[in-house]
Amino acid sequence: MSRKTIQLDDTVYNYLLKHSLREHPEQTALREATAKHPHGGMQIAPEQGQFMQLLVKLMGARRTLEVGTFTGYSALTVALALPPDGRLLACDTSAEYTAIGKPYWQRAGVAGKIELVIAPASETLDARLAAGAAGAYDFAFIDADKTGYDAYYERCLQLVRPGGLIAFDNTLWNGAVAHPAQDEDTRALQALNDKLHADARVDLAVLPIGDGLSLARKR
Ligand code: CA
Repeated sequence: MSRKTIQLDDTVYNYLLKHSLREHPEQTALREATAKHPHGGMQIAPEQGQFMQLLVKLMGARRTLEVGTFTGYSALTVALALPPDGRLLACDTSAEYTAIGKPYWQRAGVAGKIELVIAPASETLDARLAAGAAGAYDFAFIDADKTGYDAYYERCLQLVRPGGLIAFDNTLWNGAVAHPAQDEDTRALQALNDKLHADARVDLAVLPIGDGLSLARKR
């Protein structure tokens, strides 16, 4: 019927959720608790989380990382998709926000898969690279300060194996990236989108799911 992506009004979006979401009860509980948080808008959309679970399973990913954990919904979501010996390195600077998610990780039985490191993510990733972890990861999810995305990308590109995937959240930025930028965050995302589009080191897809999800597969 259409050669471009469908526009979802609330009725169609709710239909999509009703006919696709298969959340673990602890995912639902954490998502609903986070929605009441003053920064709850930073949480990823549930259908996006489920799509990331599918990617992780399709890849057979075992070693994963994320930059930007917030209250831990994406970490919980990815960890639930990992095999028993799978691991997620979760990087965040806030002990306060990440503490919200920990009880949900515990109750879902995946806390042992998640290694949370509270520090600037670039330092954490550099330490992994210095320890010889280049090429050791299958999947990386970047969802943190937008002006830091390029630095996280360059590190993740070293940390993932050839054929590994780097996913970037918020790359459509509520549409702002398509207009003249008024702020640093939008300019950073525009620069990243330009760079990814021209970057021969990766295969690329940009999906209008959530707030825009860009997928870069390391060649
Ligand atoms: Ca986000």
